[in-house]
Amino acid sequence: MIKINEIFYSIQGETTYVGSPTVFVRTTGCNLRCTYCDTKYSYYEGQFTPTEQLLEKIKSYQAKYVCITGGEPLLQKEVLPLMTQLCDENYFVSLETSGSKSMQLVDSRVKTILDVKTPDSGEPDTFLMANLQWAQPSTEFKFVICSEKDFEWAENFCRQHDLFQKYIVLYSPSFGQVRETWLAENILQKKSKARLQIQLHKYIWSPDTRGV
Ligand code: SF4
Repeated sequence: MIKINEIFYSIQGETTYVGSPTVFVRTTGCNLRCTYCDTKYSYYEGQFTPTEQLLEKIKSYQAKYVCITGGEPLLQKEVLPLMTQLCDENYFVSLETSGSKSMQLVDSRVKTILDVKTPDSGEPDTFLMANLQWAQPSTEFKFVICSEKDFEWAENFCRQHDLFQKYIVLYSPSFGQVRETWLAENILQKKSKARLQIQLHKYIWSPDTRGV
């Protein structure tokens, strides 16, 4: 049984899978409290669901991509065999995690998205450094940038751990806190090797862009 907050089918708004029709499985519970968290409803709300029932629901969408997100999915150990089973059934599986819990037992076929928390996230120093050894070539490192200080911190972190050479690094502007253009200019001016990531889903489903 896994405590599930919600399952839904939508367009992936982040990572290199951006734009892909995806089944999102959001687990309940998070050990962090980021200042900009837009999924606070996932901290406690949810239903314990048998894995078989989850698989049936996922299959019903007839999608190729499944994104396991939270909350923090790695708080529930039953998430591990679920991801393995999905890989066995030829889904492209991604896992969004803050990296504060060990990734050692995550199936190597899963694309892990490590959302490393910056100082202004309100949850600095929560990244488990041991997870660097469990990263796969397909792993993507994401930093939500809230300020100039965060930008500099992320640059230092990436250089210190050689992330730009080994992985895709994504910088995402904290929605409503810093502007996309500011972050784009910073990446260019400071010759960063990071990719700018805009949360596509927030634009697609924004009231300003709905309609025909
Ligand atoms: S890790 Fe994610 S779900 Fe948890 S508090 Fe931070 S933004 Fe919210």
